Amino acid sequence: MVIRSKALRFLLLISTLVVVIIIAVQLFWLQKVYLFEEKQFSTNISKSIKGLYEDLNLVSVHNYSIEKLIETPNNDLYIAKVDSLPNIDSLRHTLSNELTDFGVFTDCKLAIFNKKTQSYIGEKYIDLPDTYQSTSDNSDMPVFKRSYSYIALFFPHRGQYIIKQMFFWIVSSGILLLALIGFSSSVFYLYRQKFLNETQKDFVNNFTHEFKTPLSVIKISADVLQQPSIIDKPDKFNKYAGIISEQTSYLQQQVQRLLEIAFTDQRNLPLVLENFDANELIKQALNDLQPLIEEKKVTITTSYTNQSAMIRADKTHFLLVMINLIENAVKYSPAPVIEISTYNKESNFCIRVKDNGMGIAKMHQKKIFERFYRVTEGNLHPAKGFGLGLNFVKKIIDAHLGKIEVESEPGKGSTFTIKMFKKL
Ligand code: ADP
Repeated sequence: MVIRSKALRFLLLISTLVVVIIIAVQLFWLQKVYLFEEKQFSTNISKSIKGLYEDLNLVSVHNYSIEKLIETPNNDLYIAKVDSLPNIDSLRHTLSNELTDFGVFTDCKLAIFNKKTQSYIGEKYIDLPDTYQSTSDNSDMPVFKRSYSYIALFFPHRGQYIIKQMFFWIVSSGILLLALIGFSSSVFYLYRQKFLNETQKDFVNNFTHEFKTPLSVIKISADVLQQPSIIDKPDKFNKYAGIISEQTSYLQQQVQRLLEIAFTDQRNLPLVLENFDANELIKQALNDLQPLIEEKKVTITTSYTNQSAMIRADKTHFLLVMINLIENAVKYSPAPVIEISTYNKESNFCIRVKDNGMGIAKMHQKKIFERFYRVTEGNLHPAKGFGLGLNFVKKIIDAHLGKIEVESEPGKGSTFTIKMFKKL
């Protein structure tokens, strides 16, 4: 099926592209906001430390550059060089005030490192409103050996705190993403609907075509039979009665197919399971198709497994499956040479129908099992059909918990393989 709605396909492509771009831009901005919040956090900590230096007179020089006194061994830890060691409680109290003054509301562990002992001489925990746990974290603060004394500030929940600061951005991105998902699904739904419309239109066209010709032939023949002079021409009478009978059985066949499809449309396909020999069933299918095989001068080779070919399945449906596959192999091969084989592989019983026909391009191989799907090359149908046969075959095989696979190369031929579990 060549989708005629090129414009819609183009629209789908453009919308996918737009959605991808919007998501990428959104992610880029979220990352930018994160970096900005991180920088803001760092600046606020530096300002708080500066406040500490001033309030507690921790450095002896006056013209100092705060950047030179602060070291950040990792993102969560700040080391601030000091010349005099403060009292841990007043340090805790002042730092707590400074942090809140500069809008830092995440919990913090505080320690004083003494250069003489090369260890922490006091540790405290500052509980701020956005603290993520009520009790202090008992894990030890990492010690960084330095030749000077320093105050260490450790923010165990810095990452989460920054993410929390970005709440508005994350929520708005989430809403945008949801809106995009809604938009994409509507476009996809529209596309699918259009596709269904087109396939259905194709079906109706095919259907009309398949029924119109036999009906007009029947009409003409019936008109001829109604002529009074026909009584004197028994040959003509028989010929036209024969045509009517032939065309009627053709129509009957087509109607039967449509009914089968309507039947397989039921949710729980009723199966009448029985044990039978699949090799014998294939022989029966070939027998039923004998007129077609002779008419199209088909060469058929068969290779039946000499192990057991007993399967448990719905015999009537299975026969139709085989007829459909063989008919397709004939229909889509200009000079049909068909190989049918059965074999056992692991716990499966397999049936293979191989032809030397026109083959099916990769892009169509999955879709041929869809309802109404027909491969149309340049809108020319090589053979008549409704695009229902393989859909029926797949539904039946699925209902038996089996599998059907296709391998095909355009111009070389196709192989359809049915795999059935030996025991159902
Ligand atoms: P129909 O034959 O009525 O079109 P099917 O459902 O049986 O419908 O097949 C769907 C499509 O798959 C066909 O239109 C045809 O293009 C392709 N196809 C099926 N069997 C073969 C085959 N053996 N070789 C090449 N093409 C095939």
